[in-house]
Formats: sequence, C-alpha cells, structure tokens
Amino acid sequence: MLLGIIGAMNEEVIQLKEVMNLLETKEIGGYNFFKGTLLNKEVVLVECGIGKVNAAICSTLLIQEFKVDKVLFTGVAGGLNPEINIGDIVISTDLVEHDFDCTAFGYDYGVIPRMENSTFKADETLVNLAKRVAANNFGSERVFVGTIVSGDTFVASNDKIKWLRDTFKGECTEMEGAAVAHVCYVLGKPFVIIRSISDKANHDANMNFDEFVKLAAQNSKLIIEGMLKEI
Ligand code: SAH
Repeated sequence: MLLGIIGAMNEEVIQLKEVMNLLETKEIGGYNFFKGTLLNKEVVLVECGIGKVNAAICSTLLIQEFKVDKVLFTGVAGGLNPEINIGDIVISTDLVEHDFDCTAFGYDYGVIPRMENSTFKADETLVNLAKRVAANNFGSERVFVGTIVSGDTFVASNDKIKWLRDTFKGECTEMEGAAVAHVCYVLGKPFVIIRSISDKANHDANMNFDEFVKLAAQNSKLIIEGMLKEI
C-alpha cells in the first residue's frame, strides 16, 4: 500500500521528511514529491503550498501520477470551537469549502451548484485510527472529531468565527483540507485531515500562529507517525 502525505507549509512536512528514508524526489510544476519509506511504510510526501488550488493540484497528482491508495493531510489550523485550545487536535469527519457562495441563486453557503455533494466525508477507518492515536498521545480531552471548514482566507476575527460556527458548525478552519477532500471524493480515494491548533482564528491569530506553528505541526506529525505503525 502506498500512502500520500500532504502538508501545506515547510513547517508541516520538514519533520517527516527528515525521518523518512528518501528514495527519489520528483518535481512536477514546482511541487517536490518525496518518495520513500517512513516507519517501513511506502509513502509519497509533498508540501503543497497554501490554499485550496495548491492543495487540489497536489492531491490530484498524488493520486493520478503516484497512484497513492490513501491520502493523509498533516497541518495546523485555527480553532473555532471555544473549547479547543492551541495545541489541541482536530480530526475531520467531513469538510466544507466555506468560501463557496452561490447564495444569489438560492443555494446555501458552501454548496457547489451542480454537484451531488458539497460536504466531503473522510474515511471512517482512518478517522477512528487517527482519533485513537491522538488520544493515546495527547489525552482524549484534547482531541476533537468533527467538521473542518476550508477557504482561501486566514481567519482572524470573532465575527467570522461566529459565522463559521453558526453556518457550518466548524471545529476549526484552515485553507487546504476541503480541497484535498473534494479531490479524494471525485477520484474515490480514502482520506483524513489531521490538524493541530496553531491559533484561535481571532484578532491574535497571526501572532499566535507565528509562535505556535512549529509545535502544532509537530503534534500533527506525531499522529501521522502513530497511524503509520498501524496502517
Ligand atoms: N504566515 C504564513 C501564512 C500562513 S497562512 C506565511 O507568511 O507564509 C495559514 C496556514 O495555516 C494555512 O496553510 C492554513 O491552512 C493554516 N491556518 C492556521 N490558522 C488558520 C486560520 N486562523 N485561518 C485559516 N487558515 C489557518
């Protein structure tokens, strides 16, 4: 089995790259795909860059070019649920593109017209495995399983938090997960998005992000490693 692992930023993939046994690097369109083994599992690791389009390109390439069987995303996110603190873990049950807005035609926010489905469900087996590994590492009180909302926006306002909670019941927000989920849904691949909280998406979000991004990325990476041992 070949696993695709994606992170958006260098901070989110560097620690995995350092411990993997790198066999080959393939560059496509400026994205570097690292092929090798990690804890004796065959993997392709890629830093996709920030935002939904970058994430969609890399997910598609992982699946079509590298023929990965499953896709895991590791990274950081802004917490929306007030019970979630910096460093806590959110595992996706499903993902929505929160900035999709065709409400002018009577659609709800997040609904993609002419698609059967706009809420992309993660693979239950991967979700349960991620949840168990995360709880073992961090304690179940620090692990949240629920909806992740993605958009091409760094969320840093209480009004936006309220809107995202009221509209989508999002546990956390980030900029890539729903794009990965959308591609995996279209191409029929199981996936899960694992995020550790770097900030609380409020007016301090940019400062908190800079301070906690490394720690949060490390938390998420620990879960990926724990999952690889059991996958
Ligand atoms: N400071 C960075 C930009 C980070 S963008 C730079 O200058 O390069 C934020 C990244 O972290 C995205 O990949 C996104 O997925 C995630 N993220 C963390 N907190 C977020 C928030 N509050 N809103 C949206 N995305 C967030």
